[in-house]
Amino acid sequence: MTAPFTSSADVVHYIGGKPYVGSGERTQAVFNPATGEVTRQVRLGGTQDVDAAVANALHAFPKWADTPPIRRARVIQKFLELMNRHKDELAAIITAEHGKVLSDAAGEVSRGIDIIEFACGIPQLLKGDYTDQVSTGMDNWTMRQPLGVVAGITPFNFPCMVPCWMFPVAIAAGNCFVLKPSERDPSASLFMANLFKEAGLPDGVFNVLQGDKTVVDALLQHEDVKAVSFVGSTPIANYIYETGAKLGKRVQALGGAKNHMVVMPDADIDQAVDGLIGAAYGSAGERCMAISVAVLVGDVADKVIPKLAARARELVIKNGMESDAEMGPVVTREALERIENYISIGVEEGAELLVDGRNYRVPGHEKGFFTGGTLFDNVKPNMRIYREEIFGPVLACVRARDFAEAVKLVNSHEFANGVACYTRDGQVAREFARRIEVGMVGVNVPIPVPMAWHGFGGWKRSLFGDMHAYGEEGVRFYTRQKSIMQRWPNDTARGAEFAMPTAK
Ligand code: NAD
Repeated sequence: MTAPFTSSADVVHYIGGKPYVGSGERTQAVFNPATGEVTRQVRLGGTQDVDAAVANALHAFPKWADTPPIRRARVIQKFLELMNRHKDELAAIITAEHGKVLSDAAGEVSRGIDIIEFACGIPQLLKGDYTDQVSTGMDNWTMRQPLGVVAGITPFNFPCMVPCWMFPVAIAAGNCFVLKPSERDPSASLFMANLFKEAGLPDGVFNVLQGDKTVVDALLQHEDVKAVSFVGSTPIANYIYETGAKLGKRVQALGGAKNHMVVMPDADIDQAVDGLIGAAYGSAGERCMAISVAVLVGDVADKVIPKLAARARELVIKNGMESDAEMGPVVTREALERIENYISIGVEEGAELLVDGRNYRVPGHEKGFFTGGTLFDNVKPNMRIYREEIFGPVLACVRARDFAEAVKLVNSHEFANGVACYTRDGQVAREFARRIEVGMVGVNVPIPVPMAWHGFGGWKRSLFGDMHAYGEEGVRFYTRQKSIMQRWPNDTARGAEFAMPTAK
């Protein structure tokens, strides 16, 4: 059964090149976080829908895998053009369901588009190695081949960019893809599926399954799904990695974060404050690379904190569609309650609450999921507000005596996604980059999200698996290497060899 995605109140699946209503009756409300209103219902798929999506993908696979990479790249190139043309519409869809401000949504779309552009280079990226004459009359080369049907499970906070970390690269490499986007902001995925079809992608190569744990578990259990990419919170990432690995799948599972920014006494104070404000409160702190801890070294705290407090109080918080908004609402009422509960926990734990974002009201948007920017000082490493991911606009300031103490603090945290150091001292910066045990490092860069050709990934409990997302690691994740040895013996070559072959 099929239904169009735009005119329907329901957000449906997308299977075999068409919108697909699916088998079950389960739905979940999708909200506009700025107004608090239910705007649509998203279909929550079941096992039958997973079977239908995987069967369509499997059917499309042999032909797509056999399509020359340059022709696959041309389809990606067309998709790139369409994504650029429809960037603003896509950004508006994101703001309407996620809440982030429109300029930030447009930024997310641009960063997704970067990966599509990277994937256009797939003929070059798939090139293998070749050795002439590994032995007399014998050559050896390697090639990378696609895996088959691969799945991606993505979080709410980047409904365009994070899926784009996965499906353009996987599809360019010759795989067929099943995307399970977040049920909280599911429409961007359908918008992209429609554009990809318009670009000439054969039916079944890209499918979208809406849903929750039921769909995720059915994808994990499905024997025709060869690899799973996941981005989301750490407990679920851990579960996906363990379950997928047990079932013999290739898995990369990116998890949660608690990103620190170390501010050294010699840093440019105004630049550090700008960096902290944008990175802590941008997207209402709902970024996996958001800075949630400021580590203020030596006497720098006394210079930084008054400026931070003033700026946190002045944040322009409103509906993200308004052009002067700096921060929009958080994604759901549950998220709002969780964040404000953490603020209460911080107070109970003895942290010093300098700016309290609780009970923030935006006139005309009384039912929206708004919270203000919150700032804590004198946070200690044993507090829950330091150890746990809050995923909201809450910045915790921790004071450190010196550089060594700051590095030790960062390296002791279980999360290790991103980190930044603000300093004017090149030697300090170099030591920081080398000694810090975190996957992505910024020197005077608050949110060091790597560009499309570098790959994205944290360390420790921020990433389960071996490969980072996108970049050349992404190409490796979605392909497997084959090594081929070849000789063309002449008619007189005879005789079995019983010893281990060596170069002759
Ligand atoms: P989430 O873990 O709740 O959900 C992520 C995905 O998993 C969604 O598609 C969801 O439907 C599915 N899911 C949820 N519960 C599940 C369960 N019990 N079993 C199987 N599947 C389940 O994450 P979220 O709230 O959507 O996103 C925010 C989190 O994602 C934060 O922790 C953030 O740090 C993290 N994140 C990490 C990165 C990164 O690159 N490391 C990037 C973006 C977001």
